[in-house]
Amino acid sequence: MLNVIAMNRFDWCVVGAGPAGISAIGKLLDEGVSTKKIAWIDPLFNVGDLGSKWQRVHGNTKVKYLKLFLSHCNSFDIAEAPRFKLYSLNEHKACLLADIVEPLAWITQRFIKRVNPFTDTVHSLSHNNHHWYLELAKQTIVANQVILATGSIPKTLPSNKPVIPLDVAMNDEKLAQLDLSQQTIGVYGSSHSAIVVMKNLLDGKVKKVVNFYRQPIKYALFFDEFILFDNTGLKDYAADWAREHIDGQWPDRLERVHCASDDKDQKLEQCDSVIFCIGFEKRDQIKLSPYKHSLPYNEGNGIIAPGLFGLGIAYPCRVTDPFGNVEHNVGLNKFMCHLDHVLPIWLQYKA
Ligand SMILES: Cc1cc2nc3c(=O)[nH]c(=O)nc-3n(C[C@H](O)[C@H](O)[C@H](O)COP(=O)(O)OP(=O)(O)OC[C@H]3O[C@@H](n4cnc5c(N)ncnc54)[C@H](O)[C@@H]3O)c2cc1C
Repeated sequence: MLNVIAMNRFDWCVVGAGPAGISAIGKLLDEGVSTKKIAWIDPLFNVGDLGSKWQRVHGNTKVKYLKLFLSHCNSFDIAEAPRFKLYSLNEHKACLLADIVEPLAWITQRFIKRVNPFTDTVHSLSHNNHHWYLELAKQTIVANQVILATGSIPKTLPSNKPVIPLDVAMNDEKLAQLDLSQQTIGVYGSSHSAIVVMKNLLDGKVKKVVNFYRQPIKYALFFDEFILFDNTGLKDYAADWAREHIDGQWPDRLERVHCASDDKDQKLEQCDSVIFCIGFEKRDQIKLSPYKHSLPYNEGNGIIAPGLFGLGIAYPCRVTDPFGNVEHNVGLNKFMCHLDHVLPIWLQYKA
């Protein structure tokens, strides 16, 4: 056992190979950390949930920001890459998420050859004598510093109705395989996901959609210095659809019900299935000992504990816009810019 541990000893371990994990590996390499001293763990190395669940989804980020993200990290070596479809698209529009998965998959394959990949899942993490011990299925990895980039899962509510999973509802091809022609579907939410889901449903053969919402639709507004409602407002494809169909003329098969209205329970009773588009929450599958429950992270710098840091959609940075509006920064380019700020601290904040 001691030999195995000696072999699996690293300076850095990045858990998760979604966009945040890929960015973390890239920035560690940019900082000159030796490839031999970096471990990278993921069960699939398939660009995280973006690669496995969301490729058919229309994103909310203009192509120019995605290109900026790819050129932001020297180690991505994007100048050496083949010409991806992303580079032939209109830079002022958003694209399908598959178009950003393609370059990220290429970068992943190159990084796997450079650092030490482990195709596995971390089950528990413990802190002992200035090291973090990461338990995988059949081995233990020891690292001085660990970055958790483990992603999030869609939030749900208790329901006595059948639930159509969000990743199915957001995928027009998978949704088309369900026979919904006689079904009334309840859709909870009014954010980007809810709009994409409603569009997918109403473009198909659903009998009726009932949208349960709490707040008016929010739109992002672009200024030279900042973007108002950058993380919470609708953009591009979803904004266009909502302006026409939600804040304009509702389609015949759409009904909207405010969550505080008296007839909301009766309206829910009419639904055959429901879809929850009410945000995302941290995937919480790693046992952190000796702590009994999951530890909070610092929303400014991502620190969870000495030598333990969080990055990506599960650990977003809190930001305040010039009007005092507070949001959590979620997006590929934002994860990368956040790393520029926090990595100098993380490099020094050891276990
Ligand atoms: C529908 C949708 C649309 C989005 N559109 C955009 C967009 O247009 N533009 C944009 O910039 N952002 C977008 N985002 C936000 C964000 O950029 C993505 O969610 C992105 O995939 C988050 O990356 P991540 O690396 O944090 O997490 P993930 O992509 O979820 O990756 C996490 C990885 O960690 C692995 N992992 C988890 N637990 C463990 C463990 N215990 N051991 C080992 N590995 C583990 C997982 O298997 C996974 O591979 C969107 C998000 C969603 C959900």
